[in-house]
Amino acid sequence: MDRLLARLEDFFAQTGAPRSVAVAAVRRAVEDLRAEVLASRAAPADKGQAEEMAASLARDHAKTLMAPRVRRLVNATGVVVHTNLGRSPLAPCVCRAVAEIAGSYSNLEFDLATGRRGSRYSLVADLLCELTGAEAALVVNNNAGAVLLALAALAAGREAVVSRGELVEIGGSFRIPEVMAQSGAVLREVGATNRTHPRDYENAVNENTALFLKVHASNFAVVGFTASVSLPDLVALGKKHGVAVMEDLGSGSLVDFSAYGLSREPTVQDSVAAGADVITFSGDKMLGGPQAGIILGRADMVERIRTHPLNRALRVDKMTLTALEHTLRLYRDPERALAEIPTLARITEPEKSVGARARRLAGMLNKIAGVSAEVVAVSGRVGGGALPLEKIPSRAVALTIPGLSENEVEAGMRGRDTPVIGRIEDGRFLMDLRTVFDEELALIAGAAKALARQAGDSPETAKS
Ligand SMILES: *Cc1c(COP(=O)(O)O)cnc(C)c1O
Repeated sequence: MDRLLARLEDFFAQTGAPRSVAVAAVRRAVEDLRAEVLASRAAPADKGQAEEMAASLARDHAKTLMAPRVRRLVNATGVVVHTNLGRSPLAPCVCRAVAEIAGSYSNLEFDLATGRRGSRYSLVADLLCELTGAEAALVVNNNAGAVLLALAALAAGREAVVSRGELVEIGGSFRIPEVMAQSGAVLREVGATNRTHPRDYENAVNENTALFLKVHASNFAVVGFTASVSLPDLVALGKKHGVAVMEDLGSGSLVDFSAYGLSREPTVQDSVAAGADVITFSGDKMLGGPQAGIILGRADMVERIRTHPLNRALRVDKMTLTALEHTLRLYRDPERALAEIPTLARITEPEKSVGARARRLAGMLNKIAGVSAEVVAVSGRVGGGALPLEKIPSRAVALTIPGLSENEVEAGMRGRDTPVIGRIEDGRFLMDLRTVFDEELALIAGAAKALARQAGDSPETAKS
């Protein structure tokens, strides 16, 4: 161990590996080599060769240990709001605001007018009300938390009536029925999977009914012989029976994307105008902001939610609040929001403009030896449980590297320092340019160049 540590001293210094990391890397290398020898998978000829092998393993371990674990990557999947890839990138002005607040003290819970303790919840509430027309607002950690908290505060020990057609599993094991159970609310399922009528809700009302709950179907659609009760109709039923109405919008949007070729989806403002008593949605889906759960609604209801003990466990930090505030500020000027919020810009970018970026990338790639690229028409998706059936016309670049299979190209691009995540379709590796930023084209070209060079160097693929 000591000999290896001394031998690799320069390497560890160059990689910036502190002593603890160097020791861990060398220890793992020695253990690995011992296991390899015992399993007869390695047979060093002498001590010198054994040390050589251990040193090489130790270098690999140190590099792995020193590499950051949360890493930037290029989303070339064409799925704009991709939960596995961090959902919404923030606008540049939002990132600057977050960086400033993160590195300093702030008035997070300090009222600058009175010099007394303030409330973190008041900071973005006004802005949310201004933009949506809601009476009151509250922000928590994420939308699953918002649903849990709202149900706990408004319906624990009582019944919440929900259509069988809306008992959604969002993914990552978030299921409406299970969250409701955790909140202490009693789920009262009504209707059938494909059809639920006003009378189904009405027949379920009793003295223990707390809420009518409407849940956005998000990631699936029921087609064919279907019926559901619209929010305005549900609000009317609620009024008639004295039952509050809550809507989980999932990926709430402040923008009507039907002007950009997508189907008309009710906006957050529509739900507020329809008279829902409580509305919840995510901050990082179609809104294009940070991970957060936004709760809007009647002042008395939001106050009950705010003062529920669970709220403290779900509270947002200063970076989230700053990111949300600055994202929302952009919405005051819808044109600015569409231009600067990356999620909105990606969703609404015309096909032609995506095509131009694809051609530029293909041109860059075709100049590299051992690489060939071609522009192909594809369809992307919004993602984030929004508009599941909607295809957004897009353009991809198919990347081929002679000597590498499509799976090897995919793994190779994924394995770069800045990974490039695409998909395999019809035997080719495709990168959808809708979700790729202009600044990332050079990065992709660099990755392809390195991969092609590697392929050219390896003995199996080397051609004279
Ligand atoms: C995405 C989604 C959620 C969960 O939101 P998170 O922000 O991921 O916690 C809840 N309900 C619906 C309908 C959703 O689409």
